[in-house]
Amino acid sequence: MTDSNAIARHRAICATIHTLPAAHVYSDLQTQPQGIAEGEAAARLARFGPNTLSEIRRTPLAVRLLANFTHLMALLLWAGGLIGFLAQMPQLGVAIWAVNLINGAFSFWQEYKAEQATAALRRMLPSYARVLRDGEERRVLAEQLVPGDVLLLAEGEHVSADARLVQTAELRVDQSPLTGESYPVRKTGDAAPASVGARAEVPNLIFAGTSVVAGTGKAVVFATGMETAFGGIAQLTQTIGEAPSPLQQELAHVTRTVTLLAVGIGLLFFALSIALAGVNLADSFIFAMGMIVAFVPEGMVPTVTLALAMGVQRMARRHALVKRLSAVETLGCTTVICTDKTGTLTQNEMTVRELWVAGRRLTVSGGGYAPEGQILEADRPLRAPLDDDLGALLRAAGLCNDARLLPPNGDSPRWSILGDPTEAALLVAAGKAGLDLAEEERRAPRVRELPFDSRRKRMSTIHRRVLSAEFSVLSSKERALRVQHSKLKTQNSELVAYVKGAPKEILALCATVQIGGQPVPLTEQLRAQVAAANDEYARAGLRVLGVAYRSLDGASPQLPDLKAEDVERDLIFLGLTALLDPPRAEVAAAVAQCHRAGIRIVMITGDYGLTAESIARRIGILRGPSPRVLTGGDLEELDDDALKAALAGEVIFARVAPEHKLRVVRALQELGEIVAVTGDGVNDAPALKKADIGVAMGLAGTDVAKEAADMILTDDNFASIVSAVEEGRAVYANIKKFISYIFTSNAPEAVPFVLFAFSGGRIPLALSVMQILSIDLGTDMVPALALGVEPPELGVMDRPPRDRAEHVIGRPLLFRSLLYLGLIQSLVAMLAFYFVYWTGGYWGRWLDLPADGQLYRSATAMTLAAVVATQIGNLFAHRTERVSAFRVGWGANRLVWLGIASELILVAAIVYVPFFQWVFGTAALPAISWLLLLACAPTLLLADELRKALLRATNDE
Ligand code: ADP
Ligand code: MG
Repeated sequence: MTDSNAIARHRAICATIHTLPAAHVYSDLQTQPQGIAEGEAAARLARFGPNTLSEIRRTPLAVRLLANFTHLMALLLWAGGLIGFLAQMPQLGVAIWAVNLINGAFSFWQEYKAEQATAALRRMLPSYARVLRDGEERRVLAEQLVPGDVLLLAEGEHVSADARLVQTAELRVDQSPLTGESYPVRKTGDAAPASVGARAEVPNLIFAGTSVVAGTGKAVVFATGMETAFGGIAQLTQTIGEAPSPLQQELAHVTRTVTLLAVGIGLLFFALSIALAGVNLADSFIFAMGMIVAFVPEGMVPTVTLALAMGVQRMARRHALVKRLSAVETLGCTTVICTDKTGTLTQNEMTVRELWVAGRRLTVSGGGYAPEGQILEADRPLRAPLDDDLGALLRAAGLCNDARLLPPNGDSPRWSILGDPTEAALLVAAGKAGLDLAEEERRAPRVRELPFDSRRKRMSTIHRRVLSAEFSVLSSKERALRVQHSKLKTQNSELVAYVKGAPKEILALCATVQIGGQPVPLTEQLRAQVAAANDEYARAGLRVLGVAYRSLDGASPQLPDLKAEDVERDLIFLGLTALLDPPRAEVAAAVAQCHRAGIRIVMITGDYGLTAESIARRIGILRGPSPRVLTGGDLEELDDDALKAALAGEVIFARVAPEHKLRVVRALQELGEIVAVTGDGVNDAPALKKADIGVAMGLAGTDVAKEAADMILTDDNFASIVSAVEEGRAVYANIKKFISYIFTSNAPEAVPFVLFAFSGGRIPLALSVMQILSIDLGTDMVPALALGVEPPELGVMDRPPRDRAEHVIGRPLLFRSLLYLGLIQSLVAMLAFYFVYWTGGYWGRWLDLPADGQLYRSATAMTLAAVVATQIGNLFAHRTERVSAFRVGWGANRLVWLGIASELILVAAIVYVPFFQWVFGTAALPAISWLLLLACAPTLLLADELRKALLRATNDE
């Protein structure tokens, strides 16, 4: 059978796949309950192609290239060049057009580079699916899914292909990307009638592009890639590109305004130079163009885009993937970080340390996930066999469990885990006690589960336990027969439910406690004893889980219809397990840094209050003597004003459900805070979306959380959020640096025209239009770029966050660049100009100097060289805003040196290469002037040091 025939036949099967009973689905899709083999998967991948949507066509490169030559500023320059040609000044026309071309090409290159940087990020975020292959659970790249793959689904996961469900537990799916309906839809594995309405409504089908909101499921993939329902509509829904960030918008606006302003000023000077200086029409026109070109910040927006993109790249290196450029800006303004505890502040490497069972306190030795260690009672190891009570506790904890332990192998020299670390730790403890969980599972196979959810704060599994004393001595074959038999004859087996979860919640559901193998009533005294043990563990920072069980009698509803409320009641309490989850090593320093940087930290955790408080104190989040610890229950009783009042002081939130996060975030925002919030689960998505910066966990986070977030941590580490904030502040500071840097040289570019016009032409024009262009679009370019990628400035994290309403180009920036440094630079440049005249035979003369010939050309070359020389000092000055520039490592930024080299090479070429001398109207400088230039170089650096010192002296307490 050819491939195309096979595919056609496959399509026919897919059309009716929902009508089959689950058992037939496997054979029709040529697969098995334990999945296909890897080899077969590879063959199918070759036949059906990868599970990806074909690239949506993007704006062609040529069109985007063209856009850089057709915006307002570019159009003005085209027109200016044309006028040059019409006015019989071809060299000017050519020059202006050349400028336009260089500028457009440079902008395009920067945009392109920025885009590459963000595209690289996308590749760092591959999506995965869990499948059964060769009978084992594997994590494969979603794009490698093939028809016939047995897909495993859990809360928060994206569905990566169209599949037919064969087994579900409380499965609910968000199909809104497909249907637009945002409420979760219930799905089951049962066969459906042939004719139902829309395919999305068939309860046993799930579709690529949707995600699991609750529960778990198992499904067989039948369509991948463009064959999926989503592939059919993807063309319509996929939107490309992102809206410009507020900063980009602001700067685009500034550029436009300045352009118009410059044109206005240009026209004014056009008129003035004719009226005052008596200059002819052609020359006046050149002046006007000069003014316009001098003032328009041509390359600002693309350089900003590039600076943002480079910030994104640096953040990625520090384990924070930012999804939008605008998030980089917001990060810098963050005032509050709301953070989870488990996994973010702590290592999420759990070890059971203490047990409370039947009134006894036990401790557990050994670290890591290796099941090597002992259970100790009063410091003496317990001997096998396990007593009934401890056995029951560890069995229940080990069976009500979805994690797996992996022995050391080629990939990792230590024991590692699959699944939830909390659960894995329980497996380890059972192993240390010598309990054979595989054997236990065989005796009591799981038949149903009620998955963990963070609102119930517990999970249950239901097992069919075979009632037979001699069972364990039977051969495995006989055993299998018995189990099968007992499924038919229920009187030989019973159903038991194992439940584990937050201690208070579990205890509330228990009526009895097992002591000496027997349930005894949970008296108030016993309850108090359990609660005291719980609090003691929690105060030590341990994470405590309660464990209980119950037999399900005949009175219960039928197995498939069992609800959590039917199972999780009248439980027999088995004990407490207390787990150690040490804080991450870097976190304390990061917390301290947040305090210095004026950023508050609010811990929001599902864990118990005392545990949360203990950890918070240990890492420095809590410092005061009497912090408030609010629980989810407290929160529900507080009105918004009371909540806001609480948020004004030191507060942490414990035993809260993810829904509560949204309220906290909203209240903080109403208080004017810029809020970053972390999350990993489905229920965190609303808070992640609402926050100014939603932060999802890359390792432990669900697909849904990652989708809702603005930033993803690749190491789940709180410290990475703080690094990202630092980079966010640095990017903003860098953008201000280069804008300020290029603004500075606008002053000495404009001053010669002003002097020329107002002296009525008696002061010769010290800088020609072409020379201005050579600064703006030549010598200033690479240094400005270098400032855009400076590493974070010393002390950026020692100051409070900036106000989001602050403008980049504010008064301080204009004062520093145009007025203060700009005027000094103009002074130096004009002195350099006169220096050539004075040493060339016109000593002491200010006015009526020759405006033609070798000396004049030399003098303008000197002005140009002086601007460039002072810009070198200015470059160093702009590496910092407040601290001394001398505290920055000289080698910290290679581009700075590249920038200086480019400046020197360009200016030398312009002054000495005959061709460029002709183009730019320059002549060689007298040798002595190089000494003067050398003296000019540090002026702005020193002047700015003075400003910084004054600033520090007046602002710092
Ligand atoms: P957090 O991640 O902030 O610690 P969670 O919402 O994950 O909070 O968990 C809340 C509580 O639910 C935990 O303190 C613990 O008691 C309980 N819990 C956590 N994981 C499990 C699990 N896999 N099974 C049963 N109970 C759990
Ligand atoms: Mg958790």
